[in-house]
Amino acid sequence: MGGMSAALPPLEEMIRRLVATPSVSSLQASLDQGNGPVCELLADWLEPLGFQVSLREVPGMPGKKNLVARAGEGADGLVLAGHTDTVPYDADSWRCDPFGGEVRDGRLYGLGSADMKSFLAVAAHAAARVDLARLARPLLIVGTADEESGMGGARALVKDAESLGARALVGEPTGLQPVDRHKGIFMERIRVLGRSGHGSDPAAGLNAIDGMMAALEALHAFLAGLAEESGEHGFPVPGPTLNPGAIRGGDNPNRICESCELDIDMRLLPGMTTRSAREKLHAAVRDALRGSGFRVEFVPLFEGVNPLAPGARRELAEACEHASGHRCGAVNFATEGPLYQQLGMEVVVCGPGEIAVAHQPDESVELAEAARAVDMVEGLVQRFCGKAR
Ligand SMILES: [Zn+2]
Repeated sequence: MGGMSAALPPLEEMIRRLVATPSVSSLQASLDQGNGPVCELLADWLEPLGFQVSLREVPGMPGKKNLVARAGEGADGLVLAGHTDTVPYDADSWRCDPFGGEVRDGRLYGLGSADMKSFLAVAAHAAARVDLARLARPLLIVGTADEESGMGGARALVKDAESLGARALVGEPTGLQPVDRHKGIFMERIRVLGRSGHGSDPAAGLNAIDGMMAALEALHAFLAGLAEESGEHGFPVPGPTLNPGAIRGGDNPNRICESCELDIDMRLLPGMTTRSAREKLHAAVRDALRGSGFRVEFVPLFEGVNPLAPGARRELAEACEHASGHRCGAVNFATEGPLYQQLGMEVVVCGPGEIAVAHQPDESVELAEAARAVDMVEGLVQRFCGKAR
């Protein structure tokens, strides 16, 4: 069994090489990079193990690829899912090289070490411990593009509507504790348009700042209504939230403000969808400004991701609970999980590393935990892809 993993470099070296291969994704074009080299590195490791690897360009996103590595035929397999990209970094705040993979006190430091390149190496190592030619059900490793900047890669998989498998383990950093719930999120710009005029006669125009005040009041009422109809889901911040994060409007004290923009971040509970919440939010603002002469426009800043909630099937959840000794919990960050659910899969989020160190300078992962993750994932592969029991 163990001997077959000889085809792969040691886990630590694989994590280091993945970290050393930049794959920043960002909505800011100057920071955005392709993820092709990370996908090719993975393909070079996975093909010799017996995986059929396909690298797929994400339509409309030049330089971005999804990797789908498959061993075995059919739609009833286990998918080990991760994203191949990282967030941007601020080199000046790092005390070590973000691409260096330096190891100190048992932790490997680097951009994406926890979130979530180590899981991709873990998945490969777990796969290397089983005989892929003799699986009863398929094993897939999926590496997506652009999770950090809009989830374009996973959205393309949903659009393809390919039956990838029956279950997906999304290896985001949860300290190896299984998670079956998270909030949904979307971000929206609200633009209120009035009419400019001389500040000495406020009635000569239509002040967009006044219009935005009415819109904000409507937003607070809308949120209060949503909070009232939502149940208890065990989140640290229990209700839905709406954060007015940025506001811009006007230019001069002596001019009537013509246009005012508000950027909001909204977090949703299971049972809500980004689509219905958006529609209700738009309606609330439009109703508040109806008949006032203001025009209102909405610009999606982040299309969003639905909340993750447990589905009817719990086999993977139970197996992860058994293997980790922890009940499934909730997290404060969003994942690609709901998109995999749209493909008909049972989804559990569970992987090595802590989200607290992600998206920060000196991100790191504990190598012993990554090694424990290999054992855990191998057990799941045996359980869900092994010989019929
Ligand atoms: Zn992540």
